[in-house]
Amino acid sequence: MSRTHRIAILAGDGIGPEVMTESLRVLDAVESKFGFATERSEALVGGAAIDDGGHPLPDATISACEASDGILFGSVGGPKWENLPPDTQPERGALLPLRKHFGLFANLRPGVCLPSLTHASPVKNELIPNGFDVLCVRELTGGVYFGSPKGREERDGETVAFDTMIYKRSEIERILHVAFTAAMGRGKRLVSVDKANVLASSVLWREVAIEVAKDYPEVELEHLYVDNAAMQLCRRPDSFDVLVTENLFGDILSDEMAMISGSLGMLPSASLGSKKEGSDLYFGMYEPSGGSAPDIAGQGIANPIAQILSVAMLLRFSLGEADAAQAIEDAVAKAIDDGYRTGDIATGAASEKKVGTKEMADAILANL
Ligand code: NAD
Repeated sequence: MSRTHRIAILAGDGIGPEVMTESLRVLDAVESKFGFATERSEALVGGAAIDDGGHPLPDATISACEASDGILFGSVGGPKWENLPPDTQPERGALLPLRKHFGLFANLRPGVCLPSLTHASPVKNELIPNGFDVLCVRELTGGVYFGSPKGREERDGETVAFDTMIYKRSEIERILHVAFTAAMGRGKRLVSVDKANVLASSVLWREVAIEVAKDYPEVELEHLYVDNAAMQLCRRPDSFDVLVTENLFGDILSDEMAMISGSLGMLPSASLGSKKEGSDLYFGMYEPSGGSAPDIAGQGIANPIAQILSVAMLLRFSLGEADAAQAIEDAVAKAIDDGYRTGDIATGAASEKKVGTKEMADAILANL
């Protein structure tokens, strides 16, 4: 066994542990098939960590992540912890500090609707006869969410509140490099989304996009204003390959993309930090786009595909095991083509094989 990778496993709450178990079975299978190994360090996070020691992100969990090549994350949160003070709640107290600690500035969210799942998309099926496959690259640590000054004060006898949308050239450059690199590995088409007709930060964004494009002559670059991008995404999602945009626009567009894809249970995500020294691989955290789904937790019916595809993204972006990643993605697509459906993507059609969490993973494993 020549290659060994270290991963931190943070299963979290709700459906997190259930879908994590299945995704690790899939990881076992590709390890033996492609001849590599992983050293896995399991650590508590979110509500589970609060119950254990009072804090959603214990130091031991951060240490396990620091010692890893990448983090496989489940989901955190649930009604049990909803009434805690905001900063000690599972999401605010674990996810945001993890992003900050590891400088995870690039959020990658695929919006994929497989051809056999177009019925689950709210987009008219005649517009997407072959489904679609878009990757949204969102800047995660800058822009109006973090810009200062921000605040609230009295001016001329009334209350005003304000935020600052600010970007440094270097922040725009590094996210564009991630997006162009992703486009190079896919369809070589990139749409940069901004509001350059109104916002100064967007004018700089567009200038930098045009400059960075010179490093990637094979990639076709197009610019769209964010309002138009939102419309085109629901009118012709199959015309997009990769989208790149700033934090606030990406927050909204990536959720729109998740909605038009049909089910949260199918969508993974990656949050990438800097490149590892001397390599094209990133340190990153990989997790389903959805949350802990407390309404279905513990019933064995959650769709494990988002977590399984998160493993594929981990393999591709942090571990350099692209063949294993592709094999997982192909195995998932085949299980769907063969008619396996968890409740969230089932229509009740007679041709479907309605399955639970474990059976869906079994169907995927059978294709590996
Ligand atoms: P959610 O994504 O957990 O659930 C929304 C709906 O999608 C639910 O009906 C759920 O059953 C369904 N769903 C989600 N994943 C599914 C899957 N794999 N298979 C089948 N159905 C699935 O969002 P919510 O209900 O708004 O939040 C629930 C909890 O999750 C809250 O405590 C919230 O704070 C937390 N949350 C955590 C994360 C995270 O850990 N990254 C993200 C979002 C929400």
